[in-house]
Amino acid sequence: MSLPVEKRALLVPPLEELAEVLEEGLKGNFSEVSVSVVECPDLSLPTWNLAAQGLCGSPRLLDVGGVPYLMPVPDKTKTYDLGQLAALAGLPGGLIIGAGAGSSQAAGVNCEMMPNALAPHSSSPGTNLTHIARVSTEDGSCILERYPSLEAGPLANVLISEGKPGTVKCVNVEAFGSVLEIQARRRTGSDNFVSAMRKTVAGRYGAEPVGMGGVFQIKSGRAKLHVMPDFSVTPLTSDEDVNKWLRFYDTSSPLVCLSEFVSHDPGLDLRVEHTHCFSNHGDGGHYHCDTTPDIVHYHGFFTVAEQLIRVDRPQLTHNFGRD
Ligand SMILES: [Zn+2]
Repeated sequence: MSLPVEKRALLVPPLEELAEVLEEGLKGNFSEVSVSVVECPDLSLPTWNLAAQGLCGSPRLLDVGGVPYLMPVPDKTKTYDLGQLAALAGLPGGLIIGAGAGSSQAAGVNCEMMPNALAPHSSSPGTNLTHIARVSTEDGSCILERYPSLEAGPLANVLISEGKPGTVKCVNVEAFGSVLEIQARRRTGSDNFVSAMRKTVAGRYGAEPVGMGGVFQIKSGRAKLHVMPDFSVTPLTSDEDVNKWLRFYDTSSPLVCLSEFVSHDPGLDLRVEHTHCFSNHGDGGHYHCDTTPDIVHYHGFFTVAEQLIRVDRPQLTHNFGRD
């Protein structure tokens, strides 16, 4: 596998500072907010269901491929082995969580992918708890299922780390803990949880890109998710085309959401935020927003990435289909 790779260091603010910035900023979008620096809890336990205990150890963000490989017309040759990309990122056997397209070759159909795996490597077969969500061709319902592969389709946005528990310092900054615990209830603004965090961080750090990734739960209320059906037979050339093609679902909590964002695109044609969700009750897909602002409760753990790795950036690009 020989892919174009661009690496950029990201700004890593002190976690205590970032906690204050986020707590203050999120109050503009939620009525109850708390952000604190904590030791990473065991996120492999039920309700979180990650493939490793923690988010810690050399956290890095990967932005792989892109929407231009999916539309106007799909390039079905664009598939990526996320396990190999973990090694390329310098973290063989690392924890991979985030959002992507599933490989139509591996899954049999275009679909949403929720990567959640410890990558296999020479001394370990790894652990793969990845899900995909696809659209039923019979009744249009969402089908959430396990995915025994790490092959992504034309795009993926993931956090890769050593997957270590919180006793390991996540990033090379002085802090009492290792990750940020973020809680927000009752949405009063129009931004979703991740956009609110991203815009807050961008407002503080400007053109210095800060990247964060982690997991959050929507513990109460409902959420709007989309699932991509199979590839469109007609070219998709606008957001309107894309929204007609996608299937949208009003889903129930609890949802586990794998998420990453970058506060500022330093000219790498990034998808600046991407979140995919799964559940134990059949709901899953791409996160847009909660649909019950009065009762929603978000609870998450995030780490700050030290490096951004852009893999196979499309040469011909466009701006639709990125919501
Ligand atoms: Zn998505």
